[in-house]
Amino acid sequence: MRLEGKVALVTGGGSGIGRAIATLFVEEGASVIVNDVVLEGAQKTVEGMGPAGARCMAIKADVSSSVEVKSMFAQIAARYSTLDILVNNAGIGETDAKHGEEIRRKADARIMELMSGGEIGTHWDVTSEMSDVDWSRMIGVHLNGTFFCTREALKLMGAKNRGAIINMSSVAGLGGLEYAPNYSAAKGAILGFTRAVAKEVASRNIRVNAICPGWIDTPMTAGQAESPLLKRALMSRVPMGRSGQPREVATTALFLASDDSSYFTGQWLSPNGGLFIGG
Ligand code: NAP
Repeated sequence: MRLEGKVALVTGGGSGIGRAIATLFVEEGASVIVNDVVLEGAQKTVEGMGPAGARCMAIKADVSSSVEVKSMFAQIAARYSTLDILVNNAGIGETDAKHGEEIRRKADARIMELMSGGEIGTHWDVTSEMSDVDWSRMIGVHLNGTFFCTREALKLMGAKNRGAIINMSSVAGLGGLEYAPNYSAAKGAILGFTRAVAKEVASRNIRVNAICPGWIDTPMTAGQAESPLLKRALMSRVPMGRSGQPREVATTALFLASDDSSYFTGQWLSPNGGLFIGG
């Protein structure tokens, strides 16, 4: 029970990694506020906790809206008066499904071209064709969302000078994903934000760290797995030869949320099966 008596907020907790983190935190004794942009998803996560769900709550809020984030924190303050742990996890992989389909088509074509030993004639052209909306939405959910929630959380954590913040970045933020420059930019910026805020609030005994998962099986990656060729090509770059499970990211979050990581701040940990190794 490493989180006994702690109050934690997990954004995007209605699915995938966020649901696994919320569930593990509750198993470890925390009361968890499960946020999602879709209330049903968050409610399902709380229902899945069994009787422990009674000390938890589901809240609908779009983290890219500072107004909705402020309202969510007002609800948290009203019920719990405090916050010990914030996990900025909410995220989107694509801003529109058609774009995703096009990327998968190009990925398959490029793999075939590579395998046939010829020149690559299929070009990504993602940045040159990206709309303002696709750029801004990605930055809005990931980076603005992380800022809006962190800003409010620090007000509660600062009142008692104690807390842990965990920001969900990605290997895309470390190495860049050639078909997702907006996603990679948002995830890279989250690492810069993590380091700066970690130094800023260290004297308040608030620790801020990041997680950079590799390829994890969740609804977000299910679309890409629809192309068996692309999935095989991706897995061939993972030394462990398999994708990760949401629970394997949740255990990383548990470490960073608990006192087991009491001397970690401004760092990133990357559960990735060896996909990305380096600084
Ligand atoms: P997921 O299963 O799609 O879960 C993300 C959750 O966040 C969804 O329930 C989603 O709701 C919610 N969400 C989206 N926009 C939101 C908003 N504006 N406000 C509140 N909630 C919002 O994806 P996941 O794979 O678990 O991803 C979780 C985090 O891990 C993301 O930050 C992602 O970038 C990161 N990550 C994932 C992987 C991976 O391989 N899966 C790797 C590296 C990093 P909707 O479903 O309605 O959109």
